[in-house]
Amino acid sequence: KVRVRFAPSPTGPLHIGGVRTALFNYLFAKKHGGDFILRIEDTDQTRYVEGAENYIVEAMEWLNIPFDESPSKPGNCGPYRQSERKEVYRKYADQLIESGHAYYAFDSGEQLDAQRKEYEAAGKTFIYNWHNRLSLDNSLNISAEETQRRIEAGDNYVIRFKSPQGETLHLKDIIRGGIQIDTNILDDKVLFKSDGMPTYHLANIVDDHLMDISHVIRGEEWLPSMALHILLYRSLGWEAPKFAHLPLIMKPVGKGKLSKRDGDKMGFPVFPLEWKTADGDVFAGYREDGYLPEAVVNMLAFLGWNPGTEQEIFSLDQLVTAFELERVNKSGAKFDPDKTKWFQNQYLQEMDNSALALEFSKYLESHQPEALRNAQDGIPLDLEKITSLIKERANFVSDLWEQGSFFFEAPTLYNEKAAGKAFKEGTVELLKKVVEKLQSVDDFKAANISEVVKGWITSNEIGFGKVMMPLRLSLVGEMKGPDVFDIIEILGKDSSISRIEKAIK
Ligand code: GLU
Repeated sequence: KVRVRFAPSPTGPLHIGGVRTALFNYLFAKKHGGDFILRIEDTDQTRYVEGAENYIVEAMEWLNIPFDESPSKPGNCGPYRQSERKEVYRKYADQLIESGHAYYAFDSGEQLDAQRKEYEAAGKTFIYNWHNRLSLDNSLNISAEETQRRIEAGDNYVIRFKSPQGETLHLKDIIRGGIQIDTNILDDKVLFKSDGMPTYHLANIVDDHLMDISHVIRGEEWLPSMALHILLYRSLGWEAPKFAHLPLIMKPVGKGKLSKRDGDKMGFPVFPLEWKTADGDVFAGYREDGYLPEAVVNMLAFLGWNPGTEQEIFSLDQLVTAFELERVNKSGAKFDPDKTKWFQNQYLQEMDNSALALEFSKYLESHQPEALRNAQDGIPLDLEKITSLIKERANFVSDLWEQGSFFFEAPTLYNEKAAGKAFKEGTVELLKKVVEKLQSVDDFKAANISEVVKGWITSNEIGFGKVMMPLRLSLVGEMKGPDVFDIIEILGKDSSISRIEKAIK
C-alpha cells in the first residue's frame, strides 16, 4: 500500500516550498489510494520554534489538504511527534553498533575543530570517515571494556555511522533516475547524541520504516542524504522505500533558491499564512493577502510539475487524477508571483456570485462596518447583484470594495478633471430633468429606467455624453463603474435622486 509522509521540522513557519512538498505527497497518495501522514520531526530541541507545529497544521487546513494520520489524528503508527518517540530510537543505534555498522566516538568539539584547522592548513577538508577514523578518539581504536568504562564514567560521546569504504552505490530516484555514489566521499554521520536524542538521519529512517512508508517524496536539499539513508536501511536489514527528490524553488528574478526574505523585497508572500516572529518581524501570508486556497494549491502544483497539456486550471481532485511523479522536472522551478495572481484572478472570476457575495459581506463587516450599516439603513443593498456587476475587474475580495465602495457611500468629492469635462453650461438643467424622469418610473428596474431616460435623450436630440457623464459622476464621484442604469436600480430611487441633487446644488 502506498504510504507517504510529510515530515517537517517545527523550526519556523512552513514556507511554500514545504507546502509544495506536502501537496505532491498528498497528490501521489490519493492518486494511488494511499495514506498521507504528518510526522513532526522535532528531535533537534535547539532549533525548536514555539508555534511552528500549529502553523503547519493551520496552513494545511486552510489549503484543504487533509492528513490521514497526524499527531491530532493518530493511526496505528503513533506517536507522530519524534520527541514523543525518544525510546524507540536507541535500540536501533545499539543494533547498528552490535552489527559493526556504527561506533562510539568521544572526540570533543575542540578536538574536532583542531583537526579541521590542521586539514585546512594543508589545503584539505576534514571528513570524519574511513581514511582517518582509526586515528581519532572512538571505540574502533579502544577495547570494548575501555569503551564501556568511558561511557559509564560519563564521557560525552556520539554514535557515528561507519560508512563503507571503496564501494559504488547505485541509487535510484523516481524523478532523477540512476545516481552513482562513491562511498569514500561520505562522512561518518552522527546518528545518536549523548543527550539521548537521535539525529535527523536515524530518526527519519527508523520512523519511515516503522510507519510503513512506501515512498519518500521530499525536497532536493535532501538528495545528498539519500546515500546514507539507503546504507542505513541496508545495515538494519530493512527494505528501503522508493525516493523522489523534488526540484528546488528558485527566485523569480536572478539566480538561487527562493528565500524567505525575497517576498518582502519583491512584494509577494512566500508563506501560506502570515507569520510573526518573536522579534516582531511580520512575514506576509497568502491567506491574509486575500488569496483563495484553491488558487494557491493550483499555483503550487505547477512548481516543478505540469500535466503535459494546455490545461492550467485544476481543482485538487483534478490534480489527484492528473498528477504523476514521473512528470516532475529535475531542474529548479522558477517562482512566478504574477502567475500566482493570474491563478487567483481565474478562481475569483469562477466563484459563483452568491459565494463571492458572502465573502464580500464578511469583508465589509470586518473592514467597512460603518459603510455597510449606513448603506443597509434604507433598503438593504443586493450584495449579490453588486458583486456580479463589479467582479470583472477584481482579483481579490478587497478589490470589490475598491471597485464598488460608491454603492455604500455617496461621493463627497468629484474627480476634478472629469467634472471639468462633464459639467458644462446647461448640465444642471439636464440633471434636474433626469430627476423628473426617475420620479416617473414606477417599476424601478434598470431596463425601465434606461428606456425612459434614453427615450427622453433621443427624442430631444440632447447627446448621450452630455447627460450620461454628469449623471455617472454625480452617482459615483468618478468616471468608473458598471452600467449607470444598473447603478441607479441598486441605489434605488431616493438615494439616486439625492445624489444627483447633491451634485447640482
Ligand atoms: N525533517 C526534514 C525536513 O524538515 C524532513 C526531510 C525528509 O522528508 O526526509 O525537511
